[in-house]
Amino acid sequence: MTLSGNGNGNGNGSGGFSYPGEGSNALERAWVRVRTHLRNEYGDAAFKNWLRSLTLLRSSGDKVVLAVTSKFWRDWIAAHYGDRLVQLWKNENMGFNGVEIMIHAESRDGRARSEAAEPPLREPQDEVPLPAPAPVNGEEPRLGDVQNLCTPLDPRFTFETFVIGKPNEFAHAASLRVAEADEIPFNPLFLYGGVGLGKTHLMHAIAWRMRMRAPTRRVMFLSSETFMTLFVKAVRFKDMHAFKDQFRAVDVLMIDDVQFFAEKSATQEELFHTFNTLADLRRQVIISADKPPVDLQGIEERLKSRLGSGVVAQLNPTNYELRLSILQAKAEQKGVSIPPKVTEFLAHKITSNVRELDGAMTRLLAHATLLNTREISIDMAQEVLADLLRANDRHVTIDDIQKRVCEHYNIKMADLLSPRRARAVARPRQVAMYLAKQLTTRSLPEIGRKFGGRDHTTIMHGVRKIEELRGGDPSLNEDIEILTRSLTR
Ligand code: ADP
Ligand code: MG
Repeated sequence: MTLSGNGNGNGNGSGGFSYPGEGSNALERAWVRVRTHLRNEYGDAAFKNWLRSLTLLRSSGDKVVLAVTSKFWRDWIAAHYGDRLVQLWKNENMGFNGVEIMIHAESRDGRARSEAAEPPLREPQDEVPLPAPAPVNGEEPRLGDVQNLCTPLDPRFTFETFVIGKPNEFAHAASLRVAEADEIPFNPLFLYGGVGLGKTHLMHAIAWRMRMRAPTRRVMFLSSETFMTLFVKAVRFKDMHAFKDQFRAVDVLMIDDVQFFAEKSATQEELFHTFNTLADLRRQVIISADKPPVDLQGIEERLKSRLGSGVVAQLNPTNYELRLSILQAKAEQKGVSIPPKVTEFLAHKITSNVRELDGAMTRLLAHATLLNTREISIDMAQEVLADLLRANDRHVTIDDIQKRVCEHYNIKMADLLSPRRARAVARPRQVAMYLAKQLTTRSLPEIGRKFGGRDHTTIMHGVRKIEELRGGDPSLNEDIEILTRSLTR
């Protein structure tokens, strides 16, 4: 079966379909309505991630035939949206009773070709089609049994729930590459970054995806503690042989947080040998740490250079846009609507890491549920999250901001505070006003006084101006990010 071959099969959401035959317009219009429903129900993030990749092919008897680009998408969409899709098509009252999802791949010249006809959706599954999770925590790891050695994978940590933004897009792409490659693309993958920025999440996501794609592939995820425990046990029971053997039996080895191996030279030595053995056997190794290999303290040079010999990818500190997307995605996953004002407030105020952002959201929702209210307000957030907000409030002062802005743009403080309107000073001044509004709790009149006695409307104008420019001016945006980071560190 072939798509109409006009390049419309890429599901880019443009809605530009074209079908041969009678009645295709009605079908097309119905599809637009179904998609609109899906988008409204599941939100923009899910829509972008998943549903957008669905294209309408045609109708066939009492079935609608849709297409996606891979088996993976097909299974996911069937499992998560299958029943809803069928229902929405039924609601169109065009006599449809089921949905068939086919897999087609885009060929290089932009034409789509179909690979295999797939059976219609049957009873929708309500579970992610993943293999049984690894054993629960607390179980004594036994030597020789790969499954039992693994640190359990968190079912919430998948690629589907990982929100991509500038700060993590490279780490995400590298992880996805490793997860989906049939041949090892590079070795090792080394992920690094500060606490709570998504290292463990990405590693679990790789493991889930690998297991899903190839259930027979033996994927072993170990926290650094587990690796060390196993090693110490092996030494104690004089069973190094079994210790080494169990790693030889895996296809993919992941070790999380190797910075904890600092000064543990025997463990490092073992990791080094394990890594070499696996690399020689062409097995994938994935490592995470809080710093890049070269900066790891108390780790031997040869291990550092080994660790840095594949792809090293950083999870950078979050920016405002990423925090906002994460909050929106979480709200969608939980099926609640939170006023944009509140998510914006949280994204501005909770800048430390994603874990805290996540925690803030969970607490806020729990509170709203307890109070049985659907109204989540900034006031409520301020009250419920007082401690978190305080911890994230680095007590930046307007003086700090002005000083830092002058340094950054290389202008004089006197000029910053003067009435001069030359652009070279006016723009930095507006940036400083903007930062004062964002990073302190000062009111506009208070900020105005600090800027040479300006009126609060002038401050408001400056803040708005920067808000407006930020979106379209990457270099201004970067200035603001650098300044924010250095001020809130
Ligand atoms: P790390 O291992 O780097 O300390 P984690 O992977 O444990 O951080 O992430 C901390 C929390 O933040 C987890 O709940 C994780 O799901 C969440 N998180 C981190 N980055 C993202 C992201 N980009 N999208 C969604 N959730 C994220
Ligand atoms: Mg971690």
